[in-house]
Amino acid sequence: MTALILENVNKSFGKTHVLKDINLTVEDGEFVVFVGPSGCGKSTLLRVIAGLEEATSGTVSIGGEQVNGTPPAKRGIAMVFQSYALYPHLTVKDNMGLGLKQDGAPKDQVAQQVAKAAHMLDLEPYLSRRPAELSGGQRQRVAIGRAIVRDPRLFLFDEPLSNLDAALRMNTRVEIAALHRSLAASMIYVTHDQIEAMTLADRIVVLRDGRIEQVGSPMELYNNPANRFVAGFLGAPS
Ligand code: ADP
Ligand code: MG
Repeated sequence: MTALILENVNKSFGKTHVLKDINLTVEDGEFVVFVGPSGCGKSTLLRVIAGLEEATSGTVSIGGEQVNGTPPAKRGIAMVFQSYALYPHLTVKDNMGLGLKQDGAPKDQVAQQVAKAAHMLDLEPYLSRRPAELSGGQRQRVAIGRAIVRDPRLFLFDEPLSNLDAALRMNTRVEIAALHRSLAASMIYVTHDQIEAMTLADRIVVLRDGRIEQVGSPMELYNNPANRFVAGFLGAPS
């Protein structure tokens, strides 16, 4: 099945036309990276997919179902942000389980899913700590764990590593790649980091001013950039 289909998606805020005729298909299990300059609409596109914003026109289909108007919690997606957005008064365990609990899952299922995610992310020693007692990298792992717990068919990451230092960024990047392999889930990942894009992506989507400029595998874009703009993003010599 197809994880995501966007057809002629447009999004305006008042007179500001932010997303312009976006057409994109993401296959099941695919890792797709969105790149593009600040302000080009990457976060808005993720939010439209997540249902945090509604498209002004066009259709969004997830797992074969059109989801325009469907609330975020019912879309089968989970989103990981740059700011971890953890609840400071809750333990790691409760932060990770909260979404699933709010979905109405029984207690033992929540506990089981949290244990599984904590194991995958090496968070078992930290389950009873609060976010303030964790490092930045550990907090981001909790935020990723919170997404895994809900067993989404599509993960959306919005620049999840940009608050981490270089060494942690590399470690966490490797972890996300490993998660992608073991979960066999579809992932859409926004970054402005070329290395992240080149190493994580099955396909890269280059956005510019609210439009898709080019889509292709990292090697296709590197070897055959459509223009200087794409070449500039992916580091190919021009
Ligand atoms: P990116 O994530 O690529 O940096 P964004 O999607 O955050 O870009 O923003 C794209 C454009 O949409 C920017 O010009 C931004 O100011 C505008 N925008 C985003 N959200 C809103 C909003 N809620 N209201 C008005 N304008 C917005
Ligand atoms: Mg953004």
